[in-house]
Amino acid sequence: MTLALIGLGQMAAAEAPQIHLVACGSVPPAALAGLADGLRQELGFKVDPAGEVQVPSAAYAPRRRQYQAEPFLPLIRPYRQQAPDLVLGITGVDLYVPSLNFVFGLADPRTRCAIISLARLDPQYYGQAADPRRFQERALKEAVHELGHLLGLSHCRRPDCVMFFSNSLADTDRKGQSFCPDCRRSLVSRFINNFNKLES
Ligand SMILES: [Zn+2]
Ligand SMILES: [Zn+2]
Repeated sequence: MTLALIGLGQMAAAEAPQIHLVACGSVPPAALAGLADGLRQELGFKVDPAGEVQVPSAAYAPRRRQYQAEPFLPLIRPYRQQAPDLVLGITGVDLYVPSLNFVFGLADPRTRCAIISLARLDPQYYGQAADPRRFQERALKEAVHELGHLLGLSHCRRPDCVMFFSNSLADTDRKGQSFCPDCRRSLVSRFINNFNKLES
């Protein structure tokens, strides 16, 4: 069920958040297009492939061979033009935050910007055969999850809810791409209560 079906679709189109997708470095066009379609269907919001930025070379940690996730966020921030809009960066490089081995994504609800990494979602990363469908499903789940954070949701205890915290890829594969009824209710009430309090 999409948010549009549970009341958010009743908001005037001008008030509804739009999702701007920003490729950070090289991202397969099919992956971007698949994400845009999936997010439109799942959330019922407008989604536009807004542009492309370079991977911030200063964020690279040679010893880990990974990029720190946080420096990506200010780079994609300029793509947020209207207060309610959400910006989702997508990158092919592997991301980390200092306290964790890696992250599938990172969200900053204050600026309404999030980033996801496709690196560890690709079966080929683990020496497995390419599986574009599975890859796409995983990317959509991680994207919806980070956007859920941007919309104010925390992690959910239900393993089948998209807001369940993925500690491993098995968690991502187990959970669905949708918000559970509790998370959906929470989203709707947040929208109604907080819509006019967003950072502009
Ligand atoms: Zn999370
Ligand atoms: Zn939930």
